Amino acid sequence: MTELAPYAVSKNNSRGRQVTEDAPQGRSEFQRDRDRIIHSGAFRRLEYKTQVFVNHEGDLFRTRLTHSIEVAQIARSIARRLHLNEDLAEAISLAHDLGHTPFGHAGQDALNACMKAYGGFEHNLQSLRVVDLLEERYAAFDGLNLCFETREGILKHCSADKAAKLGELGERFLNNRRPSLEAQVANLADEIAYNNHDVDDGLRSGLITLEQLEAVPLVAEQLSEVRHAYPNLPERRVVHETVRRIINTLVSDLIRQSVSNISSQALATLEDVRSAPALIAYSTEINEQQRALKNFLRIHLYRHYRVLRMSAKAQRIISDLFEIFIADSRLLPPQFQSLAEQDRARAVADYIAGMTDRYAIREHRRIFAVEEAV
Ligand code: MG
Repeated sequence: MTELAPYAVSKNNSRGRQVTEDAPQGRSEFQRDRDRIIHSGAFRRLEYKTQVFVNHEGDLFRTRLTHSIEVAQIARSIARRLHLNEDLAEAISLAHDLGHTPFGHAGQDALNACMKAYGGFEHNLQSLRVVDLLEERYAAFDGLNLCFETREGILKHCSADKAAKLGELGERFLNNRRPSLEAQVANLADEIAYNNHDVDDGLRSGLITLEQLEAVPLVAEQLSEVRHAYPNLPERRVVHETVRRIINTLVSDLIRQSVSNISSQALATLEDVRSAPALIAYSTEINEQQRALKNFLRIHLYRHYRVLRMSAKAQRIISDLFEIFIADSRLLPPQFQSLAEQDRARAVADYIAGMTDRYAIREHRRIFAVEEAV
């Protein structure tokens, strides 16, 4: 690892873990966090959770797992170039989607609607709940006992009323302060990853076409360069060559602009980062262009009738499961029964949020199809 900037997160300025542990041997505290995340059950379940396309629609589409790995790759590249803590950026990236429901955003919206009368459901807060409480792997504590800075990075958004209940971790949402630069990097790496892999997956699925994408300046520019330089290139290679150039354009612009933002602030410490405005950012021009791409994907891919049909099915599955468990918590598997005694709705939400797509489909069948074994 290259030398860290003085305002990067390090073992010297870290606020540490909730439960004190011996220092790790032969690896840093943040490498230990990353390793714990990789060994968690929630991380393995990401393999069978939808990003945009439901897992059984095809083997090559991104899942939450491959998405998270791509986010980590992009975040590490940026963190390294900015002399930030690469291990922390990686740990945050790998953990950022651990609290996601099955069936992507349709699942999150459905569960949030079911939970409306019980405090709602928010995947960011759920990711934190997974690493703080729900993982049951260690003798000495619940959850993974991650460092403050990793948890801070996982909690990307939070409403004021929820933040007030989170103590130290919620403070920045109440006092209008920023998280570490590593957390800011992971946040934007998430966006770079999904905008680009959704272009790739969208094209592979046939739901969007290259011709349509020519209306998006960020894509059109790279696409025309590729076609000009390689006139006879087969379509799949044109797509990949274009997508990799878009990623490169976004990452290079982000690094350039962030270096300039950082130097304009004369940062000396991590606390300076927390009181400064958000410093990891694109230039105005590229920001506009990436927003246009996002907008394109929202209209043409995320609201495509075939995606919406799958979303409608997902919402049915989730609300059916929620209703039956909230009406009779004795139907929950035993490990959720004791949680249900304290807070039935939250236990049901924990159970459903933890499901993979195919587990949710099977569980729905087990409960509602009379001929199915229970
Ligand atoms: Mg994500």
